[in-house]
Formats: sequence, structure tokens, C-alpha cells
Amino acid sequence: MKKIILTFLVLISFLMCTYANNPGLDVTYIGNEGFLVQSANHRILIDALFKSGAQPYLAPTKAMVKKMIKNEEPYNDIDLLLITHRHMDNFNAPLTIKYLINNPNCKLIAHSQVVCQLKKWAKFAEIESQIKEIDSNICSKMSLKENGIEIDVLNTRHSFFRTDRENLNNTVFNLAFIVNLDGEHILHMGGSVVKENILTLEKYPFAKKPIDVLFLTYFDIAQDSKQFITNKIKPKSIVAMHIPYGMESNVSKFIKTHYHNTHTFKHQQDACYFENGGKTAYKHE
Ligand SMILES: [Zn+2]
Repeated sequence: MKKIILTFLVLISFLMCTYANNPGLDVTYIGNEGFLVQSANHRILIDALFKSGAQPYLAPTKAMVKKMIKNEEPYNDIDLLLITHRHMDNFNAPLTIKYLINNPNCKLIAHSQVVCQLKKWAKFAEIESQIKEIDSNICSKMSLKENGIEIDVLNTRHSFFRTDRENLNNTVFNLAFIVNLDGEHILHMGGSVVKENILTLEKYPFAKKPIDVLFLTYFDIAQDSKQFITNKIKPKSIVAMHIPYGMESNVSKFIKTHYHNTHTFKHQQDACYFENGGKTAYKHE
């Protein structure tokens, strides 16, 4: 019996050491392009706070939003809130203000178009110091360090595919975020597709800074996108996003026919641990 317990303890120690040396990334699906991403020492939220109504895309439930605002697990102690663009299926101004007031250590990184919407609300003054505003033009790139996390921001063109009443997305600035989380790198493309932003993406040294997890709209499968992703970005894993509700299984099969090592979340709050191209899906308790 003692031998079994000893073997078990050695195995646990080995696994803990392995985890410490290769912290990997833990991703939880919030809805549409929204995710919680965690590494050994950092936690960020991307496009996580918006309201339902942007059919056919999933929005965080009221219970999830409440947990985020109240700093409850698994959404507690967030270092950064990143917002890719101003669309209603990525961002809601009152929720963002409420969140930042209740989480004063969290920093927000967003484009001026998003900050402009926040300024319309009276409590903006209370959160102003938490905001890092990006006021750049399409094709530009900048590097930041906020709350100990290195972030490269690429100002990309929002996908032209949508033809909503607001506009043809010609005037929507999108930020693609490359975030270094304890040595693991993610690239979240927001509402932009690769083939429409090759000029911007070409400036980035992907060969020196390999991407571990690429968050990609599931329909970004044009030949130019595939070539650039496969030959230049070379992500170890791809997470599909911007999936119409109920289409998750179809999208899962679809994206696998175009890329290797893809993952499609089926339900909100489903989680997946990514490590060196491998993955382990699980659910939060
Ligand atoms: Zn959008």
C-alpha cells in the first residue's frame, strides 16, 4: 500500500513540475468572440461583456456577467480586458463601465471608437485611469506592457462580409491582439479576417514570436488566409469563433477540413487546456 501511495505522490510531483515548466493556456468560451484566457500567472478577458440581441451569436448569460462583475470564479482577478471593436456582439458600454468600477485593478485596452462610446456615460471619469486607448490607423502596430503583460496590437480592417444596417464595416476599426501570457502567445483576430489584412500581418515577426493559440473567425478559410496562416503564423492550435448559435458541431467539422489542430467550443463556459499543440477539454464545476 505504501508503495502505491509513494508512486502516486511521485507522479503528482512530476505532473506539477511539468505544469510549472510548461504552463500552457487555459481557455474558457464565453460566447461569439469572447473568451477567458489564463496562464500560470495571468488572466485576461477578450470581448467578454455584451448583451444578447446580436442574433444569431451567443452572448454571456446574466449569471456569467454577474460573476465577472463581482470578481467571482472562474472570472476573478482579471489583469486585462481587451475589446477588439465596437460592435454590439463584442462590446457593451454600460456593462464595461460597471465591470471596471468593480474591478479597479483591471486595465482595458481598446480603440478610440470603443472609448468614445464609454465617454457618453457619466461614470466614465471613474474608470478613465484604467483605460489604455489605442488611437491608431489601419495597418499600424504598437507594443504595450500593462499589468505585467506584453501585448502587441495590430490595427486591422474589420471583415467586409457583414452587410448590416450600420455600415459595410468600412469605418470600423478592429484591433487584433497578440498577447504574451507567461511565454505562451495568443493571436485574437477579433472581427477581422487574415486575407484582408495580409499587409498588416506581414509586418509582424511571427517567425521569432510563434503563436500558440490563434482565435480565428470560422469562415476565414480563403486560399490567401490559409496560405498565410499555414506558412507564416503557424499556430500550434486554432480556436474557431463567431459561430452562429446551434451551428457549433457543423463548424467543428467544417474548420477541421481546412486547418490542423482546431478546437470548436460547443457550449458556453466549456473550457480547454492547450499545451504545445495538444489539448484537454473540460467543464468548469
Ligand atoms: Zn464585428
